[in-house]
Parts: sequence; C-alpha cells; structure tokens
Amino acid sequence: MIVIKFGGTSVQDSFWIDKAIDITNSMIDRAPVLVASAMAKTTDRLINIANCSFQKNKEGIIETIDILKKVHIDAAEAFLTGENLAAALKSLNTLFDQLSSLSRGLYLLQECSPKSSDTLLSFGERLSTLLIYHRIIERKIDAELLDSRDFIITDDNFSNAAPIFKITNPKIREFVKPQKGKIIIAQGFIGSSEEGHITTLGRSGSDYTAAIIGSALDAEEVQIWTDVDGILTTDPRIVSDAKRIENISYAEAAELAFFGAKVVHPSTIQPAVEKKIPVIVKNTKNPDSPGTAIIDKTSGTGLTGISGKKNITLINITSSRMLNAYGFLSRIFQIFSKYKTPVDLISTSEVSVSMTIEDVRNVGLILTELEQIGKTTVEYNNGIICLVGKNIWKDSSLISDIFKTLYPASVKMISLGASEVNLSMVLPQDEIDETIKKLHKSFFK
Ligand code: ADP
Ligand code: ASP
Ligand code: MG
Repeated sequence: MIVIKFGGTSVQDSFWIDKAIDITNSMIDRAPVLVASAMAKTTDRLINIANCSFQKNKEGIIETIDILKKVHIDAAEAFLTGENLAAALKSLNTLFDQLSSLSRGLYLLQECSPKSSDTLLSFGERLSTLLIYHRIIERKIDAELLDSRDFIITDDNFSNAAPIFKITNPKIREFVKPQKGKIIIAQGFIGSSEEGHITTLGRSGSDYTAAIIGSALDAEEVQIWTDVDGILTTDPRIVSDAKRIENISYAEAAELAFFGAKVVHPSTIQPAVEKKIPVIVKNTKNPDSPGTAIIDKTSGTGLTGISGKKNITLINITSSRMLNAYGFLSRIFQIFSKYKTPVDLISTSEVSVSMTIEDVRNVGLILTELEQIGKTTVEYNNGIICLVGKNIWKDSSLISDIFKTLYPASVKMISLGASEVNLSMVLPQDEIDETIKKLHKSFFK
C-alpha cells in the first residue's frame, strides 16, 4: 500500500481536488490511502473564529463562517451533481450547523480552551475530506471515507497531541484496509484522546498522520504532495531560485524541518525512519518533477540545505562556580523541564551556558530560578540559521568558507549537532534573511 498526502494548497478548490484525485487514481493499483489537509486557509480561518470569540466580535465570526461555507459549497456545486451533490450538501450543512453552534458557545463564554480549539480546528479536515470523497464517487472510482478519530488515538495534550502508538497502530490496522482499485480517504491532523475528545497533532500535522498510517501499515512509500517541487535548498520565499534536493537523509530532513523548512513536519520523519519507509515530497502543480526522496542514508559530502527560524530567545548563564563543578547543567535543565519549555540549541564553556528557546510563555519564572544558579541574561528577537549537510565538521575548508561568507554577520552563538549533519547559529532576527541569501548564493549557485 501507499500513503498519499495532499496539503492545503493541493486541495484548495474543485480544480486542485480533481488534480489530487488524478494523481491518486494514477496509483490506484498500489492500494492508496489519501490523507488530506483542510482546504488552504481553512485552519487559519477557524483560528480566527476563536480569536473573534475572545474579542466579542460576532460579525467577525459570522463573516468567517460564511466564507468557509462559500468555499466548500462552491467546490461541491462545481464538481458534484444530482443525488451525490444533495448528499454532500446535506453532510456539509450538518458540519456547518455544528460549527455554528460551537462558535456561538465560544462567543457566549468568550473562551477557547485548547480542548475547544481542537474541536473547532477539526472541522477543516472533516470538511475537505467529505468533498474529496464525494468527488471520487462522482468520478465512479471506488472510495471509502474514514474518520481518523477512530484510529489516531492520542494523549490529551490538546493542540499538540502525541499519538499513543500502542493503541493507534492496532486501531489503524483494524480500520484502514487498503486495497487495489480503491481510494481510502482519511483526515490529516486530527485524532481523538482515549476519553474520546477531539485532538490535533499540531500545525502542519497532516504530514505526521500520513507517516503514522504508513508506518502502521508498512507502506511501500509515503508521498507528501505540496506546492513546490520538493525539499529545496532553502526557503523559496527567501531565495526564489532555491533548488530541488534530489535525495536527503532522514536526519538531514529532520534538521531542516525542525529549523524552519516548513515543507515537511519535523515529526513526519520519525515513524518513517523506524520502518525505513521512503518519504517522497512532490509538487501537485508539477507532478512530472521527480520531487525529493527522503531516504535512510545518502552519500557524499558538503551542504544539502539551509533553513532559518525567527522569534528565538537566547538565554545566557554565567557563574564562576561552574568551574570544575558538576551538576550545574542538570540543575539548569531541571528548571526548563519544570516549566515544560524545550531548549533547542545549547553551547557551553567552563563558566557559561547559552541556550535558545522558542516558547517564552514561562520565561519570567525560568529566569527567576536561573538567577539562583548564576548571572542570567536574556536576549529576544533572535533567529537561528541551520546549515545541513554531510560530515560538515570533517571538511575544514567548508567550515572556513562558511565563516568567511558569514562575515560581518553578528553571530551570537554556534552549535554543532552531534549527528554531524548540522551547524546552527544564532543571529539577530533582522540579519537572518540576508545571511541566508548570502550563504545560499555562495554554496548553491
Ligand atoms: P502544505 O500545505 O502542502 O502542507 P506547506 O505550506 O506546509 O504546504 O509547505 C510548503 C511550503 O513550505 C512551500 O510553499 C514553501 O514556501 C515552504 N518552504 C519553506 N522552506 C522550504 C524548503 N526548504 N523547501 C521547500 N519548501 C519550503
Ligand atoms: N490544516 C492543518 C494546518 O493548517 C494541518 C495541516 O495542514 O497539515 O496546520
Ligand atoms: Mg505542511
């Protein structure tokens, strides 16, 4: 079997849904499971409903629901007919009635807990897959629409839930029965807690759903269809002529994704790595391009890609008591752990430790406790540039070229990934894009 995942832009309207179905249908003999995201902008619009309820903005809520209705009903009317159209409209309207009731509740209470938010956001994928299913039926192709909440069973960390694999994997095998000649459709991004509440896997989580299903069913391949030719050497919004990477290892792809290459969700790679299932990233708008293959290992040396992330906070702790002492790092990390704040990069010397974090919700409390350990400073508005490649540190001429190119950027911290695939550095946020452009020009032209 094969898992074929389409992102929001790949199912943005009736035209692109048809293209996605053409692509899937061309692989119908490989027993495809089609995993879909919400139609483009839908999740953002649903988030806007939550924001409007906080702000007591009734008009905003009504307007947003009207736009969502129009987008989905326009698509249904564009490519469905007769009884099939009637059935689709009935199901769409039922979902919109539920969405309206939920929005009214949120508006009255002026609250949107992560739990309510997950229910709200789940409508996007439920609506898009309904349309896709009815269009496949309209085209007289055998199809089955599943409900991912039946088998993606997660913890109750709403908005960023983690699958409980020992329950999820057997459930997937129970509910998802791929067969040649038939398209099975499932929602990306959504799941259910053990108590039966709707959960979501985090923004861009549909990639993860695809990998989870692929891994549970030992897929021959997981395909991620998006709006660019594959994983590119850098973010095409920063460098418009970034190039397609043909092959990339799981480790390199995970680093690029984690440090900002939005094209694949960082966790996607994990279930696939364990089963050594190839993940292929392809372009719905240019299906003839071979895309990028994310595979177990690739050979060679040199840089593969560059990614960048903004809104990074740098924390430095200095204490002469660290000299020749033990237990400092452990005390520092216990504080971050207590406040559930992940540390991304770290760099240490005998008397100082520098770390970066993204989540600043508890930064005040963290700083107060860190002060007990040593002199602590915090710097906001930074960014990370991550250079990914093979054996970067073994090639001293490459390292020297990288630093020459960086000059005169104000590098504040450098961190070397133990995996030897990455070299990351912290710079002021406003230097990130320019520095990426320079590095890209120098290493990928
Ligand atoms: P989808 O909706 O299909 O999941 P996303 O918007 O999540 O698509 O990801 C695709 C987008 O990721 C591209 O349009 C591109 O702008 C952005 N992107 C950022 N970095 C990279 C990169 N290194 N390679 C390819 N795309 C990238
Ligand atoms: N629709 C969700 C989002 O926009 C999940 C996804 O697209 O992967 O984040
Ligand atoms: Mg995505």
